[in-house]
Amino acid sequence: MLSLDHVSVAYDGQPAVQDASLRLDDGEVLAVLGPSGCGKSTLLRAVAGLEPCTGTVAWDGADLARVPTHKRGFALMFQDGQLFPHLTVARNVGYALRLRRRPRAEVVARVADLLDLVGLAGYADRLPGTLSGGERQRVALARSLAVEPRLLLLDEPLSALDAGLRERLAGELRDILRAAGTTALLVTHDHEEAFAVADRLAVMRAGRVVQTGAIADVWAAPTDAPTALFLGYARVLDAEPAAPILAAAGRATGTPVALRRSALHVADDGPLAGEVVAVRTTPELLRLVVRVEGVGEVDAVAGLALRAGVGDVVRMHVEGTRLAPLRGADTASLH
Ligand code: ADP
Ligand code: MG
Repeated sequence: MLSLDHVSVAYDGQPAVQDASLRLDDGEVLAVLGPSGCGKSTLLRAVAGLEPCTGTVAWDGADLARVPTHKRGFALMFQDGQLFPHLTVARNVGYALRLRRRPRAEVVARVADLLDLVGLAGYADRLPGTLSGGERQRVALARSLAVEPRLLLLDEPLSALDAGLRERLAGELRDILRAAGTTALLVTHDHEEAFAVADRLAVMRAGRVVQTGAIADVWAAPTDAPTALFLGYARVLDAEPAAPILAAAGRATGTPVALRRSALHVADDGPLAGEVVAVRTTPELLRLVVRVEGVGEVDAVAGLALRAGVGDVVRMHVEGTRLAPLRGADTASLH
């Protein structure tokens, strides 16, 4: 188990990470999500032992302060994968194993297993230059997993890829990490990537961890308006943080639907009904865009038990609304 307690890093007196505390259980994938420059990479580097920090980074309760990077048993993977261009795929993947002087037969078998795991069986003899960006990232992932790190640190591993590929590979990355039982800390600025890959989220802003929790919980109740916007809410109301935005029932009666704050510009509490115009799924969540008569399109979030589809009419109930100024990119369209 990785634990961070009150970890801070400063560059020339300027704080980059402030008072970060996190837990990561074995086998769990945690995504640190935040905008560019908020301190994600710095936090990851502190975990790896590449950046001096105050506070405590510990593994299974043992302080790592005096444990150098190469003795922590962690592996790092970056945005660009950084393969050796002159080595074949197989030699890239087996690199660390050969460095450790593992028997040749063992290296060959392990490399084959790993290429299988990342869906690249048959690519062993290719050179990195002949691979697509996504294939290169999968080779880099296989290479990171070769030595069975007790923790895999992933710094924006998919950010260099184009959108379609990124989405597909995010799902694959999730499956591969699950299949290998890897404990991983992923940092990214892309909420879709975080949702697709991780079990839990830690949302970071300006050097601080502002919210942690299971993805569904963070999604359903962002701690504040900037967090909601960063998570992908189209429009939010700066309402009372505790205002419940919940409720209920489409065809699958009783299934909770969290109505995003975007809908809170409806003056009255009470039921809303609307037609679903779009549905998006992540492994945990169903996101519905619902057209509400006289209101326009609003975003709603449902648990997986609700199988609403485009064209379905869903009924939602907004509780405890308090009107407050709208914020967000397309506020104007609401007036
Ligand atoms: P992120 O990965 O979230 O984009 P970083 O952790 O790279 O953010 O950076 C956080 C802050 O620390 C930024 O303001 C950045 O300019 C600063 N920073 C990062 N690395 C260094 C460094 N080596 N020296 C000085 N400042 C740095
Ligand atoms: Mg970074």
